[in-house]
Amino acid sequence: MKKYNFNAGPSMLPREVIENTAKQILDFNGSGLSLMEISHRAKDFQPVVDEAEALIKELLSVPEGYSVIFLGGGASLQFTQVPANFLHTKAAYLNTGTWANKAMKEAKLYGEVVEVASSKDANYTFIPKNFDVPADADYLHITTNNTIYGTEIRKDLDVCVPLIADMSSDIMSRPVDVSKYDCIYAGAQKNMSMAGVTVIIVKNDKIGKASRQLPTMLNYVTHVEKGSMFNTPPVVPIYSLLETMRWVKRNGGVEAMDKLAKQRAEIVYGEIDRNKLFKGTVAEEDRSLMNICFVMNEEYAELEKPFFEFATERGMVGVKGHRSVGGFRASCYNAQTIEGCNALVQAMKDFEAKY
Ligand SMILES: *Cc1c(COP(=O)(O)O)cnc(C)c1O
Repeated sequence: MKKYNFNAGPSMLPREVIENTAKQILDFNGSGLSLMEISHRAKDFQPVVDEAEALIKELLSVPEGYSVIFLGGGASLQFTQVPANFLHTKAAYLNTGTWANKAMKEAKLYGEVVEVASSKDANYTFIPKNFDVPADADYLHITTNNTIYGTEIRKDLDVCVPLIADMSSDIMSRPVDVSKYDCIYAGAQKNMSMAGVTVIIVKNDKIGKASRQLPTMLNYVTHVEKGSMFNTPPVVPIYSLLETMRWVKRNGGVEAMDKLAKQRAEIVYGEIDRNKLFKGTVAEEDRSLMNICFVMNEEYAELEKPFFEFATERGMVGVKGHRSVGGFRASCYNAQTIEGCNALVQAMKDFEAKY
């Protein structure tokens, strides 16, 4: 049976990305060696890093003066690395969910953390707006897409202090004005690659100014100066990232990804709003286009498990909601197809017809 992958992360990748990466794992560029067996310093591999970097810059229109680096440690390491490099006395954080909280926890090890606003009391069902940022904060940190709660900030904020964003789960899904950010980071396994590599886009004149001695590996300068080759980078994840960036480009770039994301969201949210069994969990204006969260309406609460089983029988994978929200979550990253969304909607309609 055909499977429709709605996993929140690691998540669906374009089939051709997986196939092309698999080919290189078997025989890298006709060398008779596997991508897994070659040195990251091999002359054939440097072009992979160079092209991946160039494509990220091209697709996101990254201005002059920024570097793109590939590191291990996931987005979670960035929760530490960002304040280690950029927090001098005080940093501002917008609390929009689990990942923002984890970022704040690490930042507290390096200085004062000001929570500028929070939607915690409403179980993170909306994005706080009109909050004040202390003018003397070293930066404001935001999570552009809240993977667990299904809210998203789909515009680039204007703030009076440097802006830093965790874009792990919506990078490459829309055009971004990179010039508004000092640093953008994203674990690749939601929208760019398999797990194992984190992409960091950082403004060159902001690094190398930390207020403390940094371990070599935590200093962005180390990795910028060595072009992500200070130590052995995650070779296979970088390769599959390159394949995904090529795929994004072939398919019209981030403008086309944005359009598709809106189409998918319209299909799925449209059905959630129409179907008497279901309701969305977040404020309409803050609905994520990437992670679509919904629950059973109260009067049909007992149908949660039966619907999950029904959808699973239809080939849906990964539609169970995160335990902190419950219900369902359909993750619709770039690789998600309109066909997949229609299949989910058909399952919702057919299930409703039984009641
Ligand atoms: C998944 C996720 C993370 C954690 O990423 P790791 O690579 O597992 O450390 C952080 N932030 C957001 C928004 C995420 O979706």
